[in-house]
Amino acid sequence: MYDTLIKNAKTIHEETIGIGITNGKISKISEKITEKAREEIDVQGLYVSAGWIDAHVHCFEKMTLYYDYPDEVGINSGVTTIVDAGSTGENNIKDFYQLAQKAKTNVYALMNISKDGIIKQNELADLSKVNIEKNMERLQELPEFIIGLKARMSKTVIGENGVKPLLLAKELQRKVNLPLMVHIGTAPVDLEELFSYLETGDIVTHCFNGKDNGILDQTGNIKPFAKKAYKNGIHFDIGHGTDSFNFEVARRAKKENIIADSISTDIYLRNRKNGPVYSLAITMEKLLAIGYSLDEVLFRVTEAPADALKIKNKGQLKEDFDADLTFFELIKSEKYLMDSNGNKEQSHQKIIPRMAFIKGEKFDI
Ligand SMILES: [Zn+2]
Repeated sequence: MYDTLIKNAKTIHEETIGIGITNGKISKISEKITEKAREEIDVQGLYVSAGWIDAHVHCFEKMTLYYDYPDEVGINSGVTTIVDAGSTGENNIKDFYQLAQKAKTNVYALMNISKDGIIKQNELADLSKVNIEKNMERLQELPEFIIGLKARMSKTVIGENGVKPLLLAKELQRKVNLPLMVHIGTAPVDLEELFSYLETGDIVTHCFNGKDNGILDQTGNIKPFAKKAYKNGIHFDIGHGTDSFNFEVARRAKKENIIADSISTDIYLRNRKNGPVYSLAITMEKLLAIGYSLDEVLFRVTEAPADALKIKNKGQLKEDFDADLTFFELIKSEKYLMDSNGNKEQSHQKIIPRMAFIKGEKFDI
């Protein structure tokens, strides 16, 4: 007997399936399920995928610069797992943890290597704010919550420090063996130099930003070192944000077979309400609009971020995985979408989340 049986869900390959849920886990996926359940839900042909994971959000509401509410960027947007990317550091991450536990959405954190996180824009301009020992203490205290590290490596953040903050982040990473997400933007540091310190599995967010210090050169080609980095397994994450996603860069990259490894939003209250981000679903539509397939898009908000951030039991629609599921509609619809630089792109398909499950619990959207 299942706790819940979901009937008439559709995969993106147009197969109709039933999903049995027991104790918060997916216990059965099959075209025909005959076993009984305490509760049956007929989703009447909604599409289903593993619960969406947004690998780059800002959701600690006590911050003032970049903040939002976990369930607003999470479950209310069809996103079952969110990863706060460096809003807090060793000094305030416990406070964030306490609050995050109250959310319905699964919340994880990448800890900013600077002690107060993004309390101001220039958190890595003063390196006395980076304390390796204290970072390690916090990681030991909250191993289930802090799943990686974050270093923001652009001009306004690092001041005169050049590559030094990144070297500290790598030093800490070597001690704790966790994923590291590095934000890229305006030089310094020059992107080629920055990439030279990254290793396979390291995550670069804002990968398709339209800035001079991005992956595209002035003739519109992908810079050779960026191709090499991608080929060597540096993980390219979208991290759309207010300032950091450009259609042309994404399209040129795709032409050269550089497809972002994960699709994330860098969402916070202002760019959620006023754009250009709005939601993970709309960010996914933007990648569809420049030619990613639906398969490619969904993989990049489920299995790919789970793998990159080593989030266990999530990201796949598979028996024994957590019953985190996102149900959505796909509707043919013509509209324009906007990137971070005000460029428009024609979009033909809407992705509308309608319902989600988190560890077996149902939420209507
Ligand atoms: Zn961010």
